[in-house]
This record gives sequence, C-alpha cells and structure tokens, in this order.
Amino acid sequence: MKKNKHINYTCVHAGELKDTVYNGATAPIYTSTTYDYRGPGTNLYPRYFNTPNQVALAQKMAALEHTEASLIFGSGMAAISAVFMAFLKSGDHIIMQRAIYGGTSHFAAAEFDRVGITYTMLESINEDTLAEAIQENTKMLYIETPSNPLLEITDIEKVSAFAKANSLITAIDNTFASPINQNPADYGIDLIIHSATKYLGGHSDICAGTVSGSQEHMDQLWKTAKNYGGSLSDVTVHLLERSIKTLGLRVKQQSKTAKKIARFLDKHPDLKTVNYPGLKSHPGHKIAKKQMHAYGGMMSFELKAHINHHEFLEELQVIKPALSLAGVESTILSPSLTSHSLMTPQERAEQGINDRLLRLSVGIEEFNILVDDIEQALEKSRKRK
Ligand SMILES: *Cc1c(COP(=O)(O)O)cnc(C)c1O
Repeated sequence: MKKNKHINYTCVHAGELKDTVYNGATAPIYTSTTYDYRGPGTNLYPRYFNTPNQVALAQKMAALEHTEASLIFGSGMAAISAVFMAFLKSGDHIIMQRAIYGGTSHFAAAEFDRVGITYTMLESINEDTLAEAIQENTKMLYIETPSNPLLEITDIEKVSAFAKANSLITAIDNTFASPINQNPADYGIDLIIHSATKYLGGHSDICAGTVSGSQEHMDQLWKTAKNYGGSLSDVTVHLLERSIKTLGLRVKQQSKTAKKIARFLDKHPDLKTVNYPGLKSHPGHKIAKKQMHAYGGMMSFELKAHINHHEFLEELQVIKPALSLAGVESTILSPSLTSHSLMTPQERAEQGINDRLLRLSVGIEEFNILVDDIEQALEKSRKRK
C-alpha cells in the first residue's frame, strides 16, 4: 500500500485561483456568462468549460488524479456519457465490467443500440475473459473498482496492461475510492471519472462529475462535451472546490472508521457476510492492498435470518436510510429496494445481490457512536421466538 504524500496540501492548494484584487485567502467566484471578446476573456463561456473557476477546479482535480488535465461536469452521468460519446462511434465495441453503477449500465442498454455501439458486459475481468471478449472493433475497456454494492475489486494494473497491448482506451469510475484512496493514472488508465456528487462533494448537497486524463484526451473529450452542454455552474464549482479542501481529512477518517466497523461486524453473531476490501477474508483484499491507499468508507453486509432487516433499518437512530452515499453523515440503503430495484430478483441473485443485503456509507462520526447505533438496532430487530 503506497502512501498518498502531501495529499491535504494538494486538496487545499492545487489549482488555487488567486484573489489578485484584494488578496483574500479564498478564490473569488466569477459568475459571468459573457466576457469582452477583445480582452483577456476571449472565448470564455461556461459551456466551453473554460471560465476561471472551472479551469482552477479542473487543475485541482488533475493534481489529485496525477493527470495533465481534467474537465468538470454537471453530474457524474454527464461525465460518463460524454466519455462514451467522445471516444466511441457507430460501429465500435466496448467491453464493460458488469458490476457497475446502475445509471451507467442503463446508459449502455438505452443509448448504445441507438447509435450503433455494441458492448460486452463481463462478470469478472481478467486476461482470459478479456481475451475472449475482445473483437476487431473493440475500442474501450470500462471498469469500476471497488464496485457497487458488493465492493468487488478489479485489478487495475492487469486491465491497463491488456488494454495497452491491444490499443484500447481505458476508463474507470473511481467514485467509490475517491482520489484519496486510489489513483488509476499511476497504473496507466487513460480516463478517470468521478461522480463528484459523492466523496468530492462530500456533504450530500452537490451534484457534479469530473473526468481526468492526458491533455490530448481532455481536448478530444472537450470537443464532444461542449456540444452536449453538460458543464457545471460556477457557483456550484465554487462549492465543490470548497468541499475538496477537506476531502483528504474526510476520507481518511471515513476509511479508518469503516475498517473498524467492518472488523466489528465481521465478528458479530447477527451478521452473515461483510463485504469490505480491507478484510483479509475479502477475495479482492490482496489486489486492493496493492492498488489502493486505504480501503474506503463503503461496505455492504447481510444480516442473519433471525434479524428482521426492515425493522433494523427503522430502528437506526444515527445512521440515516438514504439513496446516495459518501457524505459526512453515515447513510444506509437496501440495494434491492433502490439502486438495483429495476432488476428482477433473478438478475439480482445472478449478481450476488440478496434482498437482505444492506450498503453502508460510513460518515465522519466517531466509531463508538456508529457501533452503538448498529448494536441497539440489532437488539430491537431480533425476531422473538
Ligand atoms: C452516483 C454514481 C454515479 C452517477 O453520478 P451522478 O452524479 O448521480 O450523475 C456514477 N458512478 C458511481 C459509482 C456512483 O456512485
């Protein structure tokens, strides 16, 4: 496990937009949608991703993801769809990991067909399955690790090596790890995507997305992205920049607490399974240890049959049932009732998603507070004999 050096310095200072008028400590916010075309603002326009606040935040993201450049989008899906539409065209084929964010698989199912892009979804990604799936017209390889909601781990280095040997462009959804815990560019991944709605925003009040990569790739992405018009408002860019200053502190605390909670739950007699890459028993633990800086704040678990899991959710006092994740507050959800509700029980079972599975997003609250909350909810939801 490599150390992520000077990460808090990068979070605070990278891509700083200086206040040169008043020398204030924080960045000014430029909300203009129109600039004098004769002056230094030639061609500045929010949808061109080039206003001062957007450019500064893009530089911060590039520094965090160890790439040359970035673009900031209005949502994670705006970022993901722009990547597909910029780097794929009619007649192309893409290989994707099956266990990916629901919105991304919906995009593939709903949009690729219409524009003549074909895709293969792989249950598990390794040299053998990739060699079998690759076609003459394959252009892109798309992965997400750790995955939602089972926290499965894909070997980034192997994916990257296969893609390089076969001239494929690689894209990763790095949302669950955040740039604090995983930097796929270090392993040669081309496009690093985040739903900034999650850890980067971190306070459950911003919807945004980012893509990072080489200047050449970002130029290509920009050409398509400006046509689709998915840039982020400069006021929200400011809020996101403000949030990222504490990203390192938040994610470090969340990862530390999550690891302790995962260990606690793993030994608990009311628990059947705990999925957390930081547990030695996790099938992807060794790879996670190699490619991540810490194991993150997300986990999922299944309660034993003697616990009524609906009641368990009702009884939690601190941990909030909530659809999204990665805020400073701990949240929990049932994937079969939310993110994966559009699948049939059979399809869910094929992906290993039991109706009793719960996904926990660990916030910045103290370990004892969270564990006491879980313990009292388990106590109250134990089925009486
Ligand atoms: C939420 C999420 C997305 C989509 O992001 P939005 O900001 O909701 O568009 C993509 N990938 C992952 C892993 C997510 O959790």
